[in-house]
Amino acid sequence: MAGAKEAMHSVWESRQFHRTPDLVVIGAGIVGLFTALFHKRRHPHHHVIVLERGPFPSGASVKNAGFACFGSPSELMADLEKEGAEAMLARVENRWKGLLELRAELGDAAIGFEPSGGHEIYAAHDPLYTRVADRFDTLNDALGPIFGKAVFRWNDEAVRDFGLKGIHHLVRTDLEGPLDTGLLMGALLRKVLAEGVFFRPRTEVISLEEDATNVTLWLNGEEELEAANVMICTNGYARELLPNMDVISARGQVLKTAPIPGLKLRGTFHYDEGFYYFRDHAGGVLLGGGRNLDFAGETTTVDGTTPLIQDALEKLLCEVILPEQPFTIIQRWSGIMGMGNSKTPIIEKRSERVAVAVRLGGMGVAIGIRVARQAAALIH
Ligand SMILES: Cc1cc2nc3c(=O)[nH]c(=O)nc-3n(C[C@H](O)[C@H](O)[C@H](O)COP(=O)(O)OP(=O)(O)OC[C@H]3O[C@@H](n4cnc5c(N)ncnc54)[C@H](O)[C@@H]3O)c2cc1C
Repeated sequence: MAGAKEAMHSVWESRQFHRTPDLVVIGAGIVGLFTALFHKRRHPHHHVIVLERGPFPSGASVKNAGFACFGSPSELMADLEKEGAEAMLARVENRWKGLLELRAELGDAAIGFEPSGGHEIYAAHDPLYTRVADRFDTLNDALGPIFGKAVFRWNDEAVRDFGLKGIHHLVRTDLEGPLDTGLLMGALLRKVLAEGVFFRPRTEVISLEEDATNVTLWLNGEEELEAANVMICTNGYARELLPNMDVISARGQVLKTAPIPGLKLRGTFHYDEGFYYFRDHAGGVLLGGGRNLDFAGETTTVDGTTPLIQDALEKLLCEVILPEQPFTIIQRWSGIMGMGNSKTPIIEKRSERVAVAVRLGGMGVAIGIRVARQAAALIH
């Protein structure tokens, strides 16, 4: 049957679009798009196609909060205690280098990066504050060689400047800030197309099978596609194609307010061990988190919001972020992350012709480009 289908193509189609791809990338998130780009740069004559089931990129890469960050003090201290200094520092360095590479590759203006700072905030009797304060200098000293200077500083006076209520302590780094996730993904997609990668939206891979010479992909619409190599970049959805992978689908819920006159908030903010995160955007507040209220319910690949978590987010807005200020919520959404037993992404060959680059956790903006570079190096 494949031969009969082929005969219906013109010679032009066969030579341009329907020749066997040297690489098929599944998933047009930040990892899939950068992987395709890096492979194409190394092999300019290769036929590279990105298959995406949505009409555009549709995963976490277009749903996230746009924090260009490398880890809050409490997260890094928890990692230090759990895994030791070497592993924690290697991860921070990877995230920091990833952010620099991303900004250099696409440009700060193109991704809407604002160097307005990253913050972690603590309530009055927050035990987290004591833990962070106790080892603050040790953490800064350890991070010094990566950044060439002290990274974090206490800036409690800024709590009032930002209009926060019930918060007594604040740590700031000037090295983080928010970016515009939509601009980033738009710029990346345009670059990938401009450099000769083909993009097929509305194309879901249902299953794949490898033989001695090729990989056969079964697509929606019962179409078959043969490829020389396949890279799976489906992150939180990885188990749909690879059921045994150590990847847990973790939903994150977000809301956004209408512009608020005189909004004082600037930059990115982590709260309550990072379970809540918020930032300014377009004159309003973007707030996400609350997965810890229902880990079981939020372990899903299904997009959606729940009253439990949305109510908690609204309460945080009322009581801490926008106290005594009226606000209107204009948008709510969710996205699916890929998590697992380790914070380290899985970037590996599964067989001769099939590889994966998944499990980016909550840090894909920072590490996506470097995960993709490693992934592209697996394919020849
Ligand atoms: C609410 C939320 C907030 C976040 N905030 C931040 C943040 O502020 N900073 C940060 O660094 N990170 C953040 N993250 C994490 C970050 O967004 C992810 O780590 C990153 O986007 C993962 O990129 P990816 O390319 O691996 O996966 P994705 O962007 O999820 O891409 C996977 C793609 O594969 C497609 N796909 C899946 N299955 C198939 C199939 N069978 N066939 C074809 N296509 C398929 C999907 O449609 C999707 O487009 C957040 C995530 C969420 C959900």
